[in-house]
Amino acid sequence: MRAYPMQLADHHRHTDHTMSPAIYAALVGSLFQNPAPMFAGAVCAAIAAVMTALKTGNHLLWPCAVLLVMIGALRSFDMAKYKSRGSDLTVAEAARWETRYQIGAVLYAIVLGAWCAIALLMTDDAVAHMICISVTTGYVAAGAGRAYGRPWIFHVQILLTCGPMAGAMVLHGNPYYVGMALLTVLYFLGLERITTRLQEIFVRALIAREREAAIAGQFDTALNNMPHGLCMFGADGRLGVMNYRFGEMMHLADSFVHRRVGAADVIAACVAVGTMSPENGSTIISEIENSQAGAIVTADLDRERGRALSWTFQPMVGGGTVVLVEDITERRKAEAKISHLARFDSLTELPNRLSFRDEIERLLAIANSESRLSALLFIDLDQFKQINDTLGHPCGDRLLCIVADRLRGMLRPDDFVARFGGDEFVVFQQNIQSAEEAAALSRRVVERLTERYEIDRHLVEIGASIGIALTSPGVTADNLLKQADMALYRAKAGGRGTFCFFRNEMAEIVEARRVLELDLRKALAKEEFELFYQPLVNLKSGRITTCEALLRWNHPTRGMVSPIDIIPVAEEIGLIVDLGRWILRKACMECMTWPDAVSVAVNFSSQQFHQRDVLSEVRYALEVSGLPAHRLEIEITESSLLRNTQWTHDALTQLRSAGVRISLDDFGTGYSSLSYLHNFPLQKVKIDRSFLEGIDADRPLTLLRGVARLSADLGMSVVVEGIETNEQLELISADGTVTEAQGYLFSRPVSAARIRQLLDASHGRHLRDDNVKVLPSRSIA
Ligand code: C2E
Ligand code: MG
Ligand code: MG
Repeated sequence: MRAYPMQLADHHRHTDHTMSPAIYAALVGSLFQNPAPMFAGAVCAAIAAVMTALKTGNHLLWPCAVLLVMIGALRSFDMAKYKSRGSDLTVAEAARWETRYQIGAVLYAIVLGAWCAIALLMTDDAVAHMICISVTTGYVAAGAGRAYGRPWIFHVQILLTCGPMAGAMVLHGNPYYVGMALLTVLYFLGLERITTRLQEIFVRALIAREREAAIAGQFDTALNNMPHGLCMFGADGRLGVMNYRFGEMMHLADSFVHRRVGAADVIAACVAVGTMSPENGSTIISEIENSQAGAIVTADLDRERGRALSWTFQPMVGGGTVVLVEDITERRKAEAKISHLARFDSLTELPNRLSFRDEIERLLAIANSESRLSALLFIDLDQFKQINDTLGHPCGDRLLCIVADRLRGMLRPDDFVARFGGDEFVVFQQNIQSAEEAAALSRRVVERLTERYEIDRHLVEIGASIGIALTSPGVTADNLLKQADMALYRAKAGGRGTFCFFRNEMAEIVEARRVLELDLRKALAKEEFELFYQPLVNLKSGRITTCEALLRWNHPTRGMVSPIDIIPVAEEIGLIVDLGRWILRKACMECMTWPDAVSVAVNFSSQQFHQRDVLSEVRYALEVSGLPAHRLEIEITESSLLRNTQWTHDALTQLRSAGVRISLDDFGTGYSSLSYLHNFPLQKVKIDRSFLEGIDADRPLTLLRGVARLSADLGMSVVVEGIETNEQLELISADGTVTEAQGYLFSRPVSAARIRQLLDASHGRHLRDDNVKVLPSRSIA
């Protein structure tokens, strides 16, 4: 509660400093409650004064009578005026009215006191004495009932009225008058106590009322601002409280809120305005009458709004029920949307992987029990990625939608199609007679999807490959999907745009492959890999210039696994990054143990080379090993140069400027494009050993020499791989264009320890005697 303003509180010392303005105003207001009795009292007192004047003939009593009537009339008039003002009193106004009352009361008391004093002291008439004493006593008693709100005014009045009266009685001298004066003083003291107590009681009542009003106000605010509609029905079943939200939700008139109607009337009103169906209405009534906790949800009658309301019923202590209504339409819609999103692909509106799986599970259960044949077609679009990359994702999205439409358009109502993610779709073809039906559908799907698409004025062509799995007794949805996926893999491998049925061998191959993947991952963690090294020999000096690091995996049960089998799998499962890093660091560290003149060559697969941070990987390996950059040679293949030409060019240039040498491996096996040789900063070309096949004939030799001369002219050193015989060596070294050679003739790939021995031996000897060369024409391994 707000504190009473300080300056006013000081001004009216008699008011309590902590009293609220409202209570102060109410106390002042209590002074002005009964103008009529006040006037009647004044008239009575005036008549009494007239009577005493007539009886005693004392002229001084006449003015008393006149003043009593006048002052009494003015006070009554003031009271009437107070009553006629409308609004609540402010503190300042209350203070003004209090002063007016105070002036009237004091003047009236003075006149009354004067009348008593005159009658008692200046006349000796016992009747007059009786009149004035009884009237004054009565007036004071009545005053106690009027002025208890501001007792201090009343106390001043007592003093001004009873003081002169009691004094006059004492002065009269008659011992009985003196006795009566004493009794009068006691009586007045008693009245003083009573009024003080009355004021306390009154103030307490006012405070309680104020508090109650505050609580009611808060309750009201809370009720009318809550998002729920609320009704409270008493034990008698009548409406106690209804908030505005309820009225608003149920379209009830505002006046309804204030009526003490029964639950049935409220529900009937809702039914009448059409916000509730009669059935829902009776359910709600029985829930209310049931007086037990409960909850129901109703759907709105109004279809347009499609509103869902949630009703909760809570019994109250001592009987009655609280009914809460919440509009849950938006929540319901959001839930529905979420569940739709969870089960449908938002782009094509086809069922997604999740709902497809569930649906297939259900359909399989039926098919199994009736032993019917069905087929699952796993469709993958060919060249979709290129469309996405060249025409942009919006075009790719449009294409997927058209594909979905075409698929939908060619299926029977029984069949079920879903988008599995990316460019993968699945069709479940139910109840077929034979595998041929599935093949026929697949053929039609491939044809239909291969037809041209027009997207944003672009004509687009793609292909489709399909893997088919046929149902067998007891097969699960997951298994069927796996089988179709394996068949798809095979279809793609066998040249896209075809379909392929699942066969059991596929599962075996896939299983073997899966085990290999697992083993590979473990092998890296358990350091089962090893690097072998094979020397490259300079044909002029006969010295080992470089050793090529070659990956070896000696598996406990598989035996020695070829890198040709390891690298593609590692690439596919993403292990190549970690594996490549290991190889690079290991090779660089190993090279640090070799003579300074010997470099190390490390093979980089295309995927490994196209890692974004290939440069930092190389820098880091050099840094941790301490190997100078010029002793590292990176062997890349033509496939690394095929894609991302600008990026590739930049990466090679950066590697080159870091000091690392780049050599092009296996030249002659791929496109063997001569443009690579001058477009990229390469230092070495390694001509593949397939060039050596039939080298004794003229053509291949001319070809080999041509390539070797061209490379040499472009400033690159030329290496021929796979030299196995002295004849081969002689043929390739005859014209002097080939700088280095590598092959079993010199050494097979050998362990790190062995290559160290070889290098020590060859370089040690070389140091002592320049004529002793590692080679030629004799294997060093
Ligand atoms: P590559 O880089 O062309 O390596 C030369 C391959 O030819 C090696 O096979 C080597 O043992 C073999 N070879 C060398 N001289 C002769 C010879 O006189 N006659 C015959 N018949 N073969 C010879 P390897 O070690 O089986 O490696 C095969 C391929 O695997 C390598 O071809 C390379 O492309 C890849 N590879 C090997 N190690 C790694 C590696 O650490 N990382 C990457 N990314 N690829 C590697
Ligand atoms: Mg190589
Ligand atoms: Mg090679």
